[in-house]
This record gives sequence, structure tokens and C-alpha cells, in this order.
Amino acid sequence: MPICPVCEYRSTEWKEVAGHLYSLTRKSDATHVMWLNRNLTIKEVDVEKLSEMLEEFFSIRGELSSWIREKFIQKFYGENPHPFILAMQKPNRAVLLGYVIEHQHFLKNWVKVLSEIIFKTDEDDVVKYELDNINVEYFGYNGKPSHYELLLRMGESLGMPRKEILGYSPLPSTKTAINTWRRIAIERDWVETLAAMHSLELVADKTLRKYGAKMHYFNEAILTSNDYPQEVKDFLREGYEADQSHAGEALTLVDKYSKDEERVQVTVLRSFDAFAKYLTARLERAMEFDSKVILQ
Ligand SMILES: [Zn+2]
Repeated sequence: MPICPVCEYRSTEWKEVAGHLYSLTRKSDATHVMWLNRNLTIKEVDVEKLSEMLEEFFSIRGELSSWIREKFIQKFYGENPHPFILAMQKPNRAVLLGYVIEHQHFLKNWVKVLSEIIFKTDEDDVVKYELDNINVEYFGYNGKPSHYELLLRMGESLGMPRKEILGYSPLPSTKTAINTWRRIAIERDWVETLAAMHSLELVADKTLRKYGAKMHYFNEAILTSNDYPQEVKDFLREGYEADQSHAGEALTLVDKYSKDEERVQVTVLRSFDAFAKYLTARLERAMEFDSKVILQ
């Protein structure tokens, strides 16, 4: 059912939603204008055209998970890949340190939000999936260190003591992004939270190029290069090997349990915006170590 992606005003027709969005943007309502500019167009269009664009944007061909994957690629790997992903094609020490310092906060919040999904759901396969994920992220498995531990080791290998890494507070952009995800976890249905969080794991999904992504999350040559410490390769390889199944499995659960697809779509888009902001924060932090890491 047609939905306003900002305030969730609902109608039986996209034309009515378009009229609603149109009149609010004419009144310069900041959140509606921002959504429109970020997702559809920065040019002014009439209601008729807007209605067509909205319908096209939200139409699901096949499964909801295909729509999520397609939008993720458009936003992060499309014509203009996110600047952090561009930086990861040849990351220097500053970029990797920016990654480590901000990501520790992301990972701590990650497991908290997943716990909220567990708290809210009655589905055993979802509980098990989330517990496995928390385990891998925070405790490690089969004797392997956790992602969190691998991240800290990467930082140490770049010459920053663990104590110093842990002493950093998150940058404001990271904090804002984290607050968005916390709000989603508390206020929205667990399926929406599941979709919002695990679709982010698509970022490192190896198979994304099959669906049209222009590049991978990082240049895979790093994994065999002698220019990077082993700990950097260990951290990147872990995500490279794990997140493909993570994101894919979670999206299958989203397809299985979603009842209100439009609400899931709207929440996922919010999560993508937060993620873009958060990835930028990693670069902002990197600039403290190398002012030539340029934000685009
Ligand atoms: Zn609205």
C-alpha cells in the first residue's frame, strides 16, 4: 500500500502520496525535502511525475530482499560509490585507523540492537540466527577471535595501543547513526530492525558485483599483499568470508516474516542513510591522521 517514506502517511494511491510529498516540499518541510533530494530527484517535478517516480522506486520485482539489495547497490556501489568505499580500494594507515576507531562503537551497538530483535521475536530461527551473529561479532567461534577482537588487533598492528583506541569517543556522525539504529530497534517491528541491520552486511558481500555493484568493499588484492600487516588482512578476510552468508540468510528471514513490506522498505532506507553518514565518519576520523584523505 502506498506510503510516505518520511511520515508514513498512507493512501490507496501513489498519486495521493505524491500530492502529500509535493505540498510538503512546497512548504519547505526539511525532512520531506531531504528525502526527495536524497532518493528521487533534486529537480522540481510535478505531482504526476512524482507519483510515477515514487511507484517505480518502491515497486518490488520478485522478493523484498531483491529490492533491498538493489537499493543498497544504488546507494553505495552505483554511479557514485560512497567515498569510504573508494578510499578502501587503496587504504592508507589513516583510513584504516579511522575505520578501527569509529567501528568499535558500531560493533558494540550492533550486538545491543540484535538483542532487541531477540527480545521482540517469538520465531526460533530468528533467535538462533541473531545469537550466532552476536557470538561471531563479540565472542568468536571455533576458537577464532571475534570481529571485535580482530578489529582491535588491526588497530594495534597500525601502531595504536588498544587502550588508546578504546579511549576514543564516537564522532557526532557516528553517534547520530547509532541513535538512528537504536530508535529503530526500540520503536519498530523486529522484522524491520532485522532488515535495517543485516542489509548493512551487504556492504562486504562478495556476490554483489553479480547484481551490478561496480567494485568490492575493498580491493581484494590487499588480502595477499605484503604492503599491509597480517592483522589488517585477518580482519578484512573475516568480513569477506562471513558477511555473504550473514546478509543472505537474514534477507531470507525478512522475506519469510515481513507482513508490511512498505514499512520495511521505509525503515531500511533510514538505516541506509544512517550507514552513509557513519561511513563518512570513518573518513572524518581518518583526516585527523592524514589531512589529505579528501571527503568528496
Ligand atoms: Zn509524509
